[in-house]
Amino acid sequence: MTAKTMDELVSLCKRRGFIYQSNELYGGLQGLYDYGPLGVELKNNLKQAWWKAMVYDRDDVEGLDASVLTSPKVLQYSGHEDTFTDPLIDCRSCNSRWRADDLVELRCPSCNSEDLTEPRPFNLMFKTNIGPVDDGKNFAYLRPETAQQIFTNFKNVLDSTSRSLPFGIAQIGKAFRNEVTPRNFIFRTREFEQMELEFFVVPGTDEKWLDFWVQARLKWWADQGIDPKNLELHKVKSHELSHYSKTTIDIMYGFPHGLEELEGIANRSDFDLGSHTRDQAELNIKSKVKENPDSATRLAFQDKQTNAWEVPYVIEPSAGVERGLLAILNEAYKVEKLEGGKERLVLALKPHLAPIKAAVIPLKRNHVGLVEQASKIKKTLQSLQLGRILLENSGNIGKNYRRHDEVGTPLCVTVDFQSLEDHTVTLRDRDTMGQKRLPVSEVPAHLQGMLGIK
Ligand SMILES: [Zn+2]
Repeated sequence: MTAKTMDELVSLCKRRGFIYQSNELYGGLQGLYDYGPLGVELKNNLKQAWWKAMVYDRDDVEGLDASVLTSPKVLQYSGHEDTFTDPLIDCRSCNSRWRADDLVELRCPSCNSEDLTEPRPFNLMFKTNIGPVDDGKNFAYLRPETAQQIFTNFKNVLDSTSRSLPFGIAQIGKAFRNEVTPRNFIFRTREFEQMELEFFVVPGTDEKWLDFWVQARLKWWADQGIDPKNLELHKVKSHELSHYSKTTIDIMYGFPHGLEELEGIANRSDFDLGSHTRDQAELNIKSKVKENPDSATRLAFQDKQTNAWEVPYVIEPSAGVERGLLAILNEAYKVEKLEGGKERLVLALKPHLAPIKAAVIPLKRNHVGLVEQASKIKKTLQSLQLGRILLENSGNIGKNYRRHDEVGTPLCVTVDFQSLEDHTVTLRDRDTMGQKRLPVSEVPAHLQGMLGIK
């Protein structure tokens, strides 16, 4: 049996230390969340899995970590200053402000008045001052997507790695959008993390690469524990496309609040590199872009044989870390009926994502001999660098098993009095609840096996 309302997930996340409302001590700030002891591990594990699949396991992708604060020029030429907006409507009666597409009837949802303004564009980018003078001129934006600084670094990466097409640049990092109505827990927030790949290809091969990345990304989400039955592909209609996009395929997931975008895979054509390029007239740019006298250089690729310049097309798989976490938590959350009418809550996370890989539990709290042996086992397992291993010195084995079921720990290792005599321990499996006795020396290999590492 699976219970999956958003409230249940929110409650588990708070109770066990995955996710807290941000600034809660002072009443909270809307649309922001903090990641607790287990949340930070889960998040890091997900990002690591993405980086491994997108960078380490491939031979055609480089990594990047660019600054969050972004020059207004970058976001002027990228089109974000003009087009990155939501249409807003003000209620003249109660001064509340609404997204136009949230007003189904032409009435204020708060006071029911029909005295509303026409929709006006509201830019979603956060601004901040740079330097000590606050004169409105020296400012930067907090980036609304990680992609732009990948484009502006295109030539740097090309020159320093001698790559040729096709190749990609991957980045994981924070992005910020001043969402008018943040909602649905961590689904739509004002500060969030993106995992973005910009994959540069020869024009004409772009749609083929788009299909390739859609399939690769579907497989990756399945590897993270998302049942493919809960994923759907939606081709974004042409009038709903972002200003830069030629084609976009959204991977949709059945969240507790409904079917929504988990990841978008966009064919951004030559729009971005073209927009940031000087001397556009001398290049064959197919998308419409404005002349750019401010750019220092051209972001294009020169064929070594023909010396001809070409602006690559780019395919962008762009995934949100928080949306990924929400989907993964939702999939993993299971309430199981046990014998005797009892229930248990288990978070059946893929072992590589589990915040704690193994808990080592001395049968009796603070017992010198048991704790000493448990500490040794913990140290040995920790040295394998598989992730966090926890020494759980709190007694009450049953309670510990229950707690580690709820946070998704795949393996519990219990050290009891027999362990002191024959160097064996009890291994308890999260999913089957099965227990078996094994020599201490075989525990590392057992855990590595669970994590798919030999
Ligand atoms: Zn109103």
